[in-house]
Amino acid sequence: MGTGTTADLQGGPREPPAPTRPYRGRFAPSPTGPLHFGSLLAAAGSWLDARAARGEWLLRIEDIDPPREVPGAAEDIIRALDAFGLWWDGDVVFQSRRSEAHVAGLQRLLDLGWAYPCLCTRKSIAAANRRRDRPDDTSYPGTCRSLPPSAAKRTRVVRALTTSEPIEIKDRLQDGFTQVLEMDPGDFVLRRRDGLIAYQLAVVVDDYEQGVTDVVRGVDLLDSTPRQRWLQTLLGYPEPRYMHLPVIVQPDGAKLSKQTGARAVATSDPGTTAWQALKCLGQEPPAELRGAAPVELWDWALAHWSPQHLAGIRNIQMP
Ligand code: GLU
Repeated sequence: MGTGTTADLQGGPREPPAPTRPYRGRFAPSPTGPLHFGSLLAAAGSWLDARAARGEWLLRIEDIDPPREVPGAAEDIIRALDAFGLWWDGDVVFQSRRSEAHVAGLQRLLDLGWAYPCLCTRKSIAAANRRRDRPDDTSYPGTCRSLPPSAAKRTRVVRALTTSEPIEIKDRLQDGFTQVLEMDPGDFVLRRRDGLIAYQLAVVVDDYEQGVTDVVRGVDLLDSTPRQRWLQTLLGYPEPRYMHLPVIVQPDGAKLSKQTGARAVATSDPGTTAWQALKCLGQEPPAELRGAAPVELWDWALAHWSPQHLAGIRNIQMP
């Protein structure tokens, strides 16, 4: 097993950094509910950024967590994107059909010694954290790091070995964001107790295999980015460029999300909604375009796209 330092990885395969490759972006919604205004914002922001760079834009439905999936949500999301004229390149990719690639990524990490089976339960983790005087901590204390490989027969849970070296994410909008993964969240889960591959690994494998150069998404995912960056490093994948957009919050400050039952964005008047989305993205569409066909609005927005107006902004009130 590795020692958890990046020095171990020197000399591993590295590709040139993202900006030298042609732009390829993506929108990767989980079908846990319909497209709501907040996810429309992420979709439009990533679409505009890709198209303004004359790049490609892919649509990947992240349907690898059946317990959280809402029947019909994937179709609803696809229909809504189409109604808003946010058209994608190629076929829609369903992440659930890519499990072979995810499992291969997991196996590679196990073979390299950067992943290990874990027998802990939530209860035993809480007890271990109490013992080390961190009673409120839910991060993983590394208990199973030195289990023999035969332990894999007793569990499906696999964790990534993390590092004590700070991982810094450079973002096009947000301040540099640094995490010491070994402290928080600790060695994180790659394969869950139910045998499902965790989001962190699936997203890294798919972004790489789909040749994604630019990840544009909501700032709520910034916190996951150091984990994803770490997996990219371990697997020898190039670093994409990141741009984390503000998220829409409700008047009480809570993030608009499918989990809190956000309503589906109405597609009956897509021009007015798209105009509002552009305003929320810090753009200043002319008043006379309010209600115009989305293609007309996007044409205007592509000619004027300036995401830097959103620099440092994390929250935007629901219009
Ligand atoms: N599937 C994730 C979500 O809907 C987003 C993945 C990503 O953009 O990296 O929250």
